[in-house]
Amino acid sequence: MSSQKKYTTLRLILGDQLNRNHSWFQRKDDDVLYVMMEVLTETSYVRHHIQKVLGFFAAMRAFARELERAGHQVLYLKLDDVRNLQSFPANLQWTVAEHSILRLEYQEPDEYRLDVIMREFCDSLESESHMVSSEHFLTEREDLSEFFKGKKTYIMENFYRDMRKKHELLMQSDGQPVGGRWNYDVENRKKIPKTHRPPEPLLFEHDLSQLHDMITHAGVETLGTVDAQRFTWPIDRKESLELLEFFVRDLLVHFGTFQDAMTPEYWALYHSRLSFALNTKMLSPKEVVERVIEAWEADKETIDIAQVEGFVRQIIGWREYMRGVYWAHMPSYAEKNFFQHDRKLPEYYWTGETSMACVSHAVKQSLEYAYAHHIQRLMVTGNFALLAGIDPDQLDAWYLGIYIDAIEWVEITNTRGMSQFADGGIVGTKPYVSSASYMHKMGHHCSGCRYDHKKKVGEDACPFNSLYWHFLDRHRDRLAKNHRMSMMYRVWDRMDRTDKQDIIAQAEHHLEHLEEL
Ligand code: FAD
Repeated sequence: MSSQKKYTTLRLILGDQLNRNHSWFQRKDDDVLYVMMEVLTETSYVRHHIQKVLGFFAAMRAFARELERAGHQVLYLKLDDVRNLQSFPANLQWTVAEHSILRLEYQEPDEYRLDVIMREFCDSLESESHMVSSEHFLTEREDLSEFFKGKKTYIMENFYRDMRKKHELLMQSDGQPVGGRWNYDVENRKKIPKTHRPPEPLLFEHDLSQLHDMITHAGVETLGTVDAQRFTWPIDRKESLELLEFFVRDLLVHFGTFQDAMTPEYWALYHSRLSFALNTKMLSPKEVVERVIEAWEADKETIDIAQVEGFVRQIIGWREYMRGVYWAHMPSYAEKNFFQHDRKLPEYYWTGETSMACVSHAVKQSLEYAYAHHIQRLMVTGNFALLAGIDPDQLDAWYLGIYIDAIEWVEITNTRGMSQFADGGIVGTKPYVSSASYMHKMGHHCSGCRYDHKKKVGEDACPFNSLYWHFLDRHRDRLAKNHRMSMMYRVWDRMDRTDKQDIIAQAEHHLEHLEEL
């Protein structure tokens, strides 16, 4: 680290820009100072899970060390550094002056908030400034809005097929999808048999107790738990690649099949847990899908196309798509509240203390691991919040805080869009709502639950059931014209009038006593 040395160029690296293969690092340049910083503005814009704060800082520190080892000049400001002014603009201003910087370069931030901060800072700067690509995504920020120009709903499937063609992934030479189909969802999504044992997840062991102490002493308010002496997430590229290899070797074979399965016994099942490594850019989406396709090509006897296609769809489809939706609709996306929901997020989202076994398990698991898989996020905590009419602002803050992979561009689009339909149907063609029958069909929670998944009314009736019909009934004016909902309205309309009244009364009782469920 240097104090008075002069550099021509300052290059800022944000905490989620740990892309070792970025063209910046291909050449050593004594005139370039790389700057990384841990700042309180980033730890406090929402209450984060302790594993998320530890994971980001540990990965940033490992990245800075790697750059230094490779001969680059790095100024790394730790959270407790006396020089640290605790915000990007303040620290940058100081560094630019201290080193007489002539040019500031930064990679495009993925968050709208940081994009604005950086633009405003650069406007105020006398030195030259320049934003470059983060060289991570397969699409540019504006590609998706161009693709869907003039459309109200952005059908992900159309975008995904275009991506497959453009990037020649799982395509035949005649331009048709490999295997003749674009989508193998019908073969996927099975309940996990009770006797089935998935592999133990690959966990790393980092002693981050010092870092943990520093975060605590700095007064950073966090949630969730951690064994700081055995931090389990990958914190550098080498470990991220190991996790990818583990996925390819042990998990890919059943990834699609059990993608939607839920069980209280296993927290990771066949999910890759690569989202943290991907979102911090320690891995690139391209290399991940290429490795998965390569593994399938090498062993088609064991791994069937349905598993591989299902995985590729998540990465080049959903992930890129969500980023595109974000840039097409921010900042107004963060205000969207189609149903005008405004109920307070129940306390058990922070503790897991509820008698609903599926919600309790999803929350407790999230507090313990900073992780829940997609169906837990969508069909358990998300579904319940939507049925109960929870304020999307509060829900966003919860999802943004609790998961190690949560960065706004991918969190808010999944939460407001996919999960809460708060965008009125940009991401989804209909709300993802279900009664307890889905929980029972896909998971093992209902058998150990105090509530009966078959009952709609009564003291032991599963709250998901009456709340489901209450949701449909109260939003009839907004949803009845949606042809994908019409069948459910027909079912509701055919129900006996007294039964319907009982269901509505039951749901209203639940809503009045939401904290007691
Ligand atoms: P796998 O099941 O192994 O999937 C592989 C990869 O596909 C993931 O790592 C991820 O990069 C990508 N992927 C899968 N589904 C999606 C999706 N819907 N959107 C974008 N990428 C996807 N994902 C985040 O990365 N950060 C978030 O903050 C986040 N918040 C979410 C909030 C809600 C309400 C919902 C319903 C989903 C959210 N997701 C988020 C999407 C998804 O649930 C996670 O990407 C996934 O659970 C991460 O675990 P995994 O790596 O084991 O994923």
